[in-house]
Amino acid sequence: MTVLSIGECMAELAPTATQGEYRLGFAGDTFNTAWYLRQIAPEMPVGYLSAVGDDPLSADLLAFMDAAGLDRSSVLQVAGKAVGLYLISLSPGERSFAYWRGQSAARGLADDETALAQAMDQAQLIYFSGITLAILNEAGRARLLAAIAAARAQGKTVVFDPNLRPALWSAPDAMTRTVMQAAAHSDIVLPSFEDEARWFSDGSVQATAARYADQGAGIVVVKNGAGDVYHQSPDGSGIVPVPPVPALVDTTAAGDSFNAGFLAGHLRGQGINDSIAGACAVAARVVQSPGALVTLTRPAHRAAI
Ligand code: AMP
Repeated sequence: MTVLSIGECMAELAPTATQGEYRLGFAGDTFNTAWYLRQIAPEMPVGYLSAVGDDPLSADLLAFMDAAGLDRSSVLQVAGKAVGLYLISLSPGERSFAYWRGQSAARGLADDETALAQAMDQAQLIYFSGITLAILNEAGRARLLAAIAAARAQGKTVVFDPNLRPALWSAPDAMTRTVMQAAAHSDIVLPSFEDEARWFSDGSVQATAARYADQGAGIVVVKNGAGDVYHQSPDGSGIVPVPPVPALVDTTAAGDSFNAGFLAGHLRGQGINDSIAGACAVAARVVQSPGALVTLTRPAHRAAI
């Protein structure tokens, strides 16, 4: 397996055009990145490490992973547990989310030290996020970070998106402290400036990049919505402009899909500027369609258009 992505995938209930009706889907930050990677780089085997329950919805999620071509041999199945769920509500122009994830099976994804080590052993690159850490308890976080540190010492590339979500943490300083700890175990950090500025009081994209570089990250790529992407690495720093999109529809999973585009470029040996340009192209398509998971490949019947 080339890439192992670690985290939680939840069931999603999204409203349809009919009042009171919802469509079932599946999404979650690290899952979205894995899902996009399969589309962008079908030649790369991608695995997902998580935990699900043994209820019918968990079975549907496993089938969804299979259909996406994800290796789910590292997904634990825990008897008596279930997958987390979120429901999207729409009021004019605004989306809001209600979550039921307190008891989700994924909270136990780092319970088995041996399983963690075995899963990472198979991978060339390991990807996780601040949300992955947020859903674990203290012991789980320590086990996951220790396994990641051991994998890195064996030469695996570790990639981390801080994905700051204070609502998932006991307090903002627990979030910022743990995120900096995780960055210290990472080769590549992929933060989004808006969140970083708010929770770390960074005055500029350069300040965000310097903070993570000082922590030991070799490559830092700072996303900034429609603004230029800033990167810093031992080879120097620079910006890549984000092409304007004709019609912004929904920025859900913009960062997740960007990360997939960047990782595909990086793993194919492209330089940082080309990897970022590819990432922007993927994210541009995603923000012009509704929902987290946007099918990027053009259906065959439209290929001639
Ligand atoms: P973010 O995590 O919100 O900073 O965004 C991640 C990536 O999604 C950006 O680097 C852009 O490539 C793309 N993106 C997000 N918002 C926009 C936007 N308003 N217009 C164009 N691209 C965007």
